[in-house]
Amino acid sequence: MSNIAEKVVIITGASSGIGEATSRLLAESGAHVILGARRTERLEVITSDIRSEGGSSEYRAVDVTKREQVEELVNYAKNTFGKVDVIVNNAGVMPLSKLEALKTDEWDRMIDVNIRGVLHGIAAGLPIMKKQGFGQFINISSIGGHEVTPTAAVYCATKFAVRAISEGLRMEVGKHIRVTTVSPGVTQSELADSISDEEAIEFMKEYRKTAISPDSIARTILFAIEQPEDVAVNEIIVRPTGT
Ligand code: NDP
Repeated sequence: MSNIAEKVVIITGASSGIGEATSRLLAESGAHVILGARRTERLEVITSDIRSEGGSSEYRAVDVTKREQVEELVNYAKNTFGKVDVIVNNAGVMPLSKLEALKTDEWDRMIDVNIRGVLHGIAAGLPIMKKQGFGQFINISSIGGHEVTPTAAVYCATKFAVRAISEGLRMEVGKHIRVTTVSPGVTQSELADSISDEEAIEFMKEYRKTAISPDSIARTILFAIEQPEDVAVNEIIVRPTGT
């Protein structure tokens, strides 16, 4: 039996893209998945697909910018299954634009979802994992967490922050809790749909042509989970070949 069977895995941003692909793959691999996002109609379809194939899936409406909602999601998983093995802090938005466009509401949204959302997942899960003596956080950064590109200053800042937070967490949690940061390159998803800046939209059309399937990132997440408990895969970059 794989190390993933019967694990209780919470995935934020599970309604599309990487989160959806991860939810489906982990459920197929025997995990109990608990899906969180705002578009519950999507989560309902994914959950029903997973159950019809014999998998275990639950879902909850969650806005990761609201700490109490993330806590409710994590507590729901703990109360339903008695433990929380993995939290995949995946929810993210990427409304790119040059700083001079002063889209300050979009800066706030990226900070709230991409940074605060991850912190809310940690705040909700860490006390439970410490108490039970095991657990794993998988935080989704980006190649934008390794290099900065024009129009992406704030987005990259949030993804650098995800890596910084993950590294701090890794050093603090000690022996029994694993911390993994996954940094995808261009991946097919709805992420670019959040861009409102015309120049950035045009640039992205070309840039995203090389995108790989979200299943590739899901397989990476599966790999990090299925290692033996004394093996922590800390950081992985996965990008389209040749980019
Ligand atoms: P998608 O846009 O397809 O998925 C984003 C997910 O985040 C959706 O399920 C969305 O759900 C959720 N989300 C957004 N805002 C909130 C919120 N406030 N509360 C809860 N959920 C929210 O994009 P991806 O699958 O690509 O994105 C997943 C992660 O991967 C992100 O962190 C992204 O930054 C990262 N990434 C993606 C890359 C790519 O090229 N695709 C490259 C590098 C990193 P809903 O709207 O239903 O709430």
